[in-house]
Amino acid sequence: MELYSSIRYLKGIGDKTEKMFNKLGVYSCLDMLLYFPRAFAEYPDIVNPIDITVNKVFAVKGRIVGRPVLKKTARMDIVLAKMTDGLNEFSLTFFRQGYLAKTLNTSQEFIFYGKVYAKGQFFQMDQPRVFTVEKYREMQTSMQPVYPLTTGLKNQTVVKGVEAALSEGLYPEEIIPGYIMEEYDFPPAKTAVRDMHFPISANDYLKAKSKFAYEEFLLFVLGIKYQKMSLEKTPNNFCIENTDEMETVKNNLGFELTPSQKDALFDILSDVSGKSCMQRLLQGDVGSGKTIVAFLSMIVFAQNGYKSALMAPTEVLAVQHYEAMTKLINKNKLNYEVLLLTGSVKEKDKKIIREKLKGDAPLFVIGTHALIQEKVEYSNLGLVITDEQHRFGVNQRDAFSNKGLHPHVLVMSATPIPRTLSIILYGDLDISVMEGMPAKRLPIKNAVVKEKSHPACYKKILEQLNMGHQAYVICPLAEESEDINAKDVISYCEELRNIFPKTIRIEYLHGKMKSDKKQEIMDDFSSNKIKILVSTTVIEVGIDVANATIIMIENAERFGLAQLHQLRGRVGRSDKQSYCILVNGSDKDEASERLEILNGSNDGFYIAEQDLKLRGPGEYFGYRQSGDVSFKIGDIYEDQMMLKKAARDAARIIEKDPELSLPENAAISARVLSYMKERAQSTGI
Ligand code: ADP
Ligand code: MG
Repeated sequence: MELYSSIRYLKGIGDKTEKMFNKLGVYSCLDMLLYFPRAFAEYPDIVNPIDITVNKVFAVKGRIVGRPVLKKTARMDIVLAKMTDGLNEFSLTFFRQGYLAKTLNTSQEFIFYGKVYAKGQFFQMDQPRVFTVEKYREMQTSMQPVYPLTTGLKNQTVVKGVEAALSEGLYPEEIIPGYIMEEYDFPPAKTAVRDMHFPISANDYLKAKSKFAYEEFLLFVLGIKYQKMSLEKTPNNFCIENTDEMETVKNNLGFELTPSQKDALFDILSDVSGKSCMQRLLQGDVGSGKTIVAFLSMIVFAQNGYKSALMAPTEVLAVQHYEAMTKLINKNKLNYEVLLLTGSVKEKDKKIIREKLKGDAPLFVIGTHALIQEKVEYSNLGLVITDEQHRFGVNQRDAFSNKGLHPHVLVMSATPIPRTLSIILYGDLDISVMEGMPAKRLPIKNAVVKEKSHPACYKKILEQLNMGHQAYVICPLAEESEDINAKDVISYCEELRNIFPKTIRIEYLHGKMKSDKKQEIMDDFSSNKIKILVSTTVIEVGIDVANATIIMIENAERFGLAQLHQLRGRVGRSDKQSYCILVNGSDKDEASERLEILNGSNDGFYIAEQDLKLRGPGEYFGYRQSGDVSFKIGDIYEDQMMLKKAARDAARIIEKDPELSLPENAAISARVLSYMKERAQSTGI
């Protein structure tokens, strides 16, 4: 039996069980060993008879009274028994466990673990789990793994499967070099894998887990370092020079670029005139002005004779970019075509666009995922930009090279990941960080209020409207829901129409609306025909209507801090004073504690760090699920010390052995490649 042998050869695994394991991605013995529990069950102390109450789960120690009765029905065997704990009497019922009629003898005590019901003046337990006293003690002192399951597969079956693999003496190969094992006092592979499943103490488990987390991080960091090296070897196929056109457009913007914008542009221009392909992350807080940097870069490419593509995560944002770019081109009388390609473009128009993308003319194409669909072919594509990168998986970055193209790549993000981590997680990219906001911006004024303060909020909104400005009102729901007690855009829009003067046009927007309707609403809001836009988080990313100066977010407690920060970024986009009202619909202290962080700061990075400190496990509001930051074992927040150590060690390893050819690195070198492949598949779009 070997690590890569099929689980079918393990004791106790038949055809049917094998199929169920396969569903969970468990094929080989190694998969089985690495199929880790999601939690550990805890067994309570044996209850004192006097403390037993009904409808609760207890571990009751008792003795069987009389002889259990076995009833054989057509469907199943049923065993009925009487038991006493010395004080109370219990009726016990067991289904499909006929053998218990014999095992449950009167000569010894057993532990019955399950829910206690009332039955007349007696107690009743249905299908309690039965243990001998010694076995129960053992369960209590050891930790019992609870595995993620699939229909038909029992927890106990996984336990048996893992035990079978362990008893074959199998364990994953050690890939961490010996000196690191010593430095961190990591348990050897054999111990570590056992302790991931059947630890004697929580401490053993944590030690094993942090080793596996470290290992995964190390593979990841080494992997992206390799990716980076191979990208550096991708020659620059599009040697680009700066152009007078770009300089003219830049000088004609009506504002001066901030020092950060200038630096970013400089970084980009040096990359694209260099030896290898650009792979750059442009990171800057919401509102810092990333779009114009992208547009100016695209213009340089056009005058050099190349196409460029800009991809956005939502259709609304793609259209906004399309319109803004069109305006910029027209204003400067440039002769490049701007194309819009999203899912809802009509098929016959898509055809025309696809023809143009295959043609030679330099142009701009702006769109959504539709840009990387199979049918779309590009010629002369020199630059690809993705906006709001954190909304995509990592692998969309490779989508263009998978088409056999090697354009320069710029990804833009107001990522909610703290900077120290993003430098590690985006280690395959060069990073330009934009600090500070465009000049003349006033910091947004914030307020956290309770729902009873609505009248004052409406007054504040009206005051802004009377100054000629516009407002956003954000609700968590698109339409009314029976289960969720939170505001929805449709009913709230109605409500607001009754509260505000009739002359004020109020409309709603949510993601499920037809795409042309959405566009109509967005256009009317941009052109100041709609005064109040009641919207879901469809406007969360990127939307730029500088005349909007106030945003009120209903049920703010239902959003993540990073998300609220993005939403708030919809205002404060000009030199006008802007306001953000967070309506806290919850009475919980932790809700107001979280919202206070936002109230006290407009700095996205600070907020991300604070959120991290407050966050309980498993709730970073979906950001963790994005392809960039998901790991199987480690959690970039909880295990960030390990992540940082792994990053530092990866650098050390590569410095000493750039090709990973030393014997001490042989095992890890083999695993890095397969790890990267696996990861690409699991996070692919
Ligand atoms: P984000 O970084 O969030 O994508 P945008 O690129 O949408 O930000 O820019 C936000 C707003 O700031 C836009 O209205 C844009 O026109 C404006 N802006 C960008 N750069 C400057 C600047 N240097 N001076 C003044 N306004 C600017
Ligand atoms: Mg943006």
